[in-house]
Amino acid sequence: MIQPAPIPQTDPRAAYLAQKTEIDAAIMQVLESGQYILGRAVEQFEREFAANLGLAHGIGCASGTDALELALRACGIGEGHLVFTVSHTAVASVAAIERAGAKPVLVDIEPGGFAMDPAALDAALRDAPPGRPAAILPVHLYGEPADLAAIGEIARVQGLRVIEDCAQSHGAVYRRRPAGSFGDIACFSFYPTKNLGALGDAGIVATADATLAEAAREIREYGWRERYVSARSGINTRLDPIQAAVLSVKLPRLRADNERRQAIAARYDERLSGLPIGLPRRRADTSHVFHQYVIRGKDRDRLREHLRAGSIGTGIHYPMPVHLHPAYRSRVALGPTGLRNSEKAAGEILSLPIYPQLADDAVDRVIAEIRKFFG
Ligand SMILES: *Cc1c(COP(=O)(O)O)cnc(C)c1O
Repeated sequence: MIQPAPIPQTDPRAAYLAQKTEIDAAIMQVLESGQYILGRAVEQFEREFAANLGLAHGIGCASGTDALELALRACGIGEGHLVFTVSHTAVASVAAIERAGAKPVLVDIEPGGFAMDPAALDAALRDAPPGRPAAILPVHLYGEPADLAAIGEIARVQGLRVIEDCAQSHGAVYRRRPAGSFGDIACFSFYPTKNLGALGDAGIVATADATLAEAAREIREYGWRERYVSARSGINTRLDPIQAAVLSVKLPRLRADNERRQAIAARYDERLSGLPIGLPRRRADTSHVFHQYVIRGKDRDRLREHLRAGSIGTGIHYPMPVHLHPAYRSRVALGPTGLRNSEKAAGEILSLPIYPQLADDAVDRVIAEIRKFFG
C-alpha cells in the first residue's frame, strides 16, 4: 500500500522556502553590514511593525516571553503586585509574570471559547489574594482576540494596566482595530510557527505610550539611557538583526498569509459541520487569524491516534493548564470561581493542520479522515 504524504500540523520550513531568495539576500546583507547588534535592520523592522498596528513605538527583543517581561517591567510591575491572566495559555504568559517579580492570578476562560472570561476576572478582582492588583494580561489565544471591551472597562474602573499577549494574534482585528492597539502595551512572539515567524527566537513590544516605550527600550539593554550608564536595572534581550531582516521580508505577506489561514478555517468549518465535535466560534466584530484551528471532542485522544495513523499531524495547545503544572501548582493564585472551563478544554482540544502553504487537497484529506473516524 502506498503511504500518503505526511501532512504536518505546521510547517515553518515551507514558509521559508516560499520566500527563500529574498530571505537569503536579506540575511547576507546583515552579514555584510558588520552591524550584528541592534542597528538599522532592527530599527527598520521596529518601525514597520509598529506602523502596521497604528502604534508609534516598537521595541524588538529576543523572544515573546522576554517581550512580556519587558512590558511588565516597563509598566513598573514587580514585587508585591498581582497580574491577572489565564491558565489556558502557553506557560510563557505566566513565567514572564514571575520573572518580573509579580504574582500571577489565574482566572478561567469563557464557557464557549478559549479566552479570559470577564466575569471570572471580575470575581477574581473582588476576591484577590494579598498584593496590589496592577495589571490584566489577556491572551488572544489561537488568533482570536479576547473580549477587550469588557476587559478594558474592568481595567479602567479598577485603574489597572492592560498588557496584551499577542503572541498568537498578529494581524487579528477587534472592532476595526488591530489586536495589540487596545491595551497600554502589546507583546508579540516571532517563534518560527507563529503567524509572523522568524527563523529562530524573536519578539517585540509595541505601544502608543512614549514613556513606556522609553522604559522598555532601556530595560532591554541593561537599563542604559546613555551607553554604559544604567539609569535603571535592566536585562539583555535585544532583537537579533538577522531575525529583524527576515521579519521585514515576511511582514508584507502577513495579511495574505492570514487570509489563507482564514480560507482553510472556512473549509474546515463547512465540511466538518454536523459531526459530534465543537468547531471554533467566531465573535462578532472580530477577525480571527487562526494561528490554530482548534476543535473539541470527548474522543480527542482516539481521533488524534486515528489521524496519526493516516500520517496527519495534530497538536494539543495545551495539554495541561498552567495551574496544574508541577512547577506552578503551589505558587499561583486562582480566581474564586475556579478553573473548570480551562481544565475541561485541556482534555478536549485538538489543533488541526493549518499554515499558509497548506494546500486545499491536504485540507480535504484531513477532513475525509475525520469524517471516516466518525463513520
Ligand atoms: C509563543 C507564546 C509566547 C512566548 O513566546 P516565545 O517567543 O516562545 O518566548 C507567549 N504567549 C503565548 C500565548 C504564546 O503562544
